[in-house]
Amino acid sequence: MLNFFGRGSAFTDEHNNAFFIDGEDLILLDCSMTAYRKVKRLSLEGIKNLYILVTHTHGDHISGIGMVIDYEFFIGKIPVTVVAPSDEVREDLAFLLKRLEGCGDSWYSLITVSSLSKKWFNAAIATTHSPSLQGRCFGYNLTVDGRSVTYTGDSRTLEPFMPYLKPGSILYTEASAYVTEVHLYAGDLRDTIKDLVAKGIEVYVMHLDNETKIMSLLKDSGAKLAPLFDDDTSLNEILDLSYKLYEESSSCKNDSHGLVFERLTELGRELVGAERASFWRWDKRLHKLWTTSATGVDKIVIPDNTGLVGKAIQTKKVLVTNDPYNDPDFNSDVDKSTGFVTKSILVIPVANVNGDFIGAFQLVNKIDGNFNKVEDVRKISLPAVICGLALESDTFLDDAHHDRLTKLKNRMGFYSDFDRVFSAYLVPDSGKTMSLFMCDIDKFKDVNDTYGHNAGDAILSQMAEILQRNCTDSDIAYRWGGEEFVMIMCDKTLEECRARAEDIRLQVMDTDFDTGEELIKKTVSFGCALFDPNRIIEDNIDAADDKLYIAKESGRNRVIS
Ligand code: GH3
Ligand code: MG
Ligand code: MG
Repeated sequence: MLNFFGRGSAFTDEHNNAFFIDGEDLILLDCSMTAYRKVKRLSLEGIKNLYILVTHTHGDHISGIGMVIDYEFFIGKIPVTVVAPSDEVREDLAFLLKRLEGCGDSWYSLITVSSLSKKWFNAAIATTHSPSLQGRCFGYNLTVDGRSVTYTGDSRTLEPFMPYLKPGSILYTEASAYVTEVHLYAGDLRDTIKDLVAKGIEVYVMHLDNETKIMSLLKDSGAKLAPLFDDDTSLNEILDLSYKLYEESSSCKNDSHGLVFERLTELGRELVGAERASFWRWDKRLHKLWTTSATGVDKIVIPDNTGLVGKAIQTKKVLVTNDPYNDPDFNSDVDKSTGFVTKSILVIPVANVNGDFIGAFQLVNKIDGNFNKVEDVRKISLPAVICGLALESDTFLDDAHHDRLTKLKNRMGFYSDFDRVFSAYLVPDSGKTMSLFMCDIDKFKDVNDTYGHNAGDAILSQMAEILQRNCTDSDIAYRWGGEEFVMIMCDKTLEECRARAEDIRLQVMDTDFDTGEELIKKTVSFGCALFDPNRIIEDNIDAADDKLYIAKESGRNRVIS
């Protein structure tokens, strides 16, 4: 079977151009303008020779030869042999190729079929096309995958090909939607094709000027459209990535924003054709820029006024450098520490829905050439917009789960963690242990009454700091509300929880709290409970709250478990 890079006639988007592979040989039948782009996308492992079988010298059939030779000489490295069907066509090709810049004499071989000795080649078949090509227009008979294949090229008759059309063989014939002097009108072809198909010949039409019209003229004839090579690899890769993202984000309970950043960074890299990509978040509070996701490198954190990313966000402009080592804004630290060589960079700042810049997409090392400010920004724009929205939504979510005053997670954060982080502990008979305490500052109202609300706020923040610094990796402290806090301790028994609370109680007693006016002492009461997975979360909190009540009732500044 032949595969087609394009099956159009002269003024269509993709010109007629077929190919097949036989062992170490890749054979092109005709060579359209874009052939080298398609050859580039073929999987050519094990291919040692590339043959271009020329049918005739009309531009739409040979204009890509120079580029294929050029591409193979510099990039693909597969030797190219241009095959002419006759001495006359060979002379024409020699004349043309000699005058092509970027197509050196020694970069290709030019032969005629008489010196082509290949088991896949049977005959060049002279045919009739336009008067100017009289004696210079051919089709071919070949053996492809063990079957006789006839390829007409451009022709206004099927007559010369008839002797080759045996049952079981395949015919690729040109067909035209319109009656002309030089092509095979589909309306006239219909009956012939019907007969051929009836005889057991498979018929495909190619070199089409109007596919719809031709297929309607050939309706019920048994003719099929020449099969197109599916070279939409990049589209398929994009679809794979977006489907993966959809699947993962609908099954993942952990960090779907993280997944969005990761997959879209990969998508952006793919769309632009860069070696690396990263998406950066601007943390305005900490004055830092850090990578939320990156291909090929670990997480990086830099001051927010540095590097090309910092500059792009500050100037609100796309930045492109194709000579980074001579760019004063380029930060070469990563290259120095990893040995990576940055050759080109594109940074596109990303805004939230209000148009405030909150992050940036960075692409490093364009695979085939330099970054283009217009084209590449167009390609990256969709992932960049979605990353901007995801970043904003992630920030909103983070804000909603945290208490601004104490910076601890709040009650919403607590419930969210129960859904996601603690799920393994919520399963009855899991064998896992989790405990919690609830604590409440004693006589806190007095602080407000004596020193004012701001002083009360300051005490709350200092209390939160004490709790936070007492958290190990498996503990999380929350501001439950007012001057009440909750700490969840994974893998801790009730005794361990109680000991931790007691320790914190003593630390609080030792602390001089700063009201802004003077240093004061405060105490805290604690109620501890072992988490019972058979009870709902609220009941578990109530269990600790009941103990806290007892602590308050029995004199405050104590731990009850
Ligand atoms: P107890 O020992 O029984 O817990 O006495 P208490 O005074 O601590 O408890 P009470 O519930 O009577 O008072 C709590 C006070 O905490 C009342 C409320 O105004 C204050 N408060 C709650 N949230 C904040 C806050 O964010 N900032 C400030 N400054 N005060 C707050
Ligand atoms: Mg209190
Ligand atoms: Mg209270």
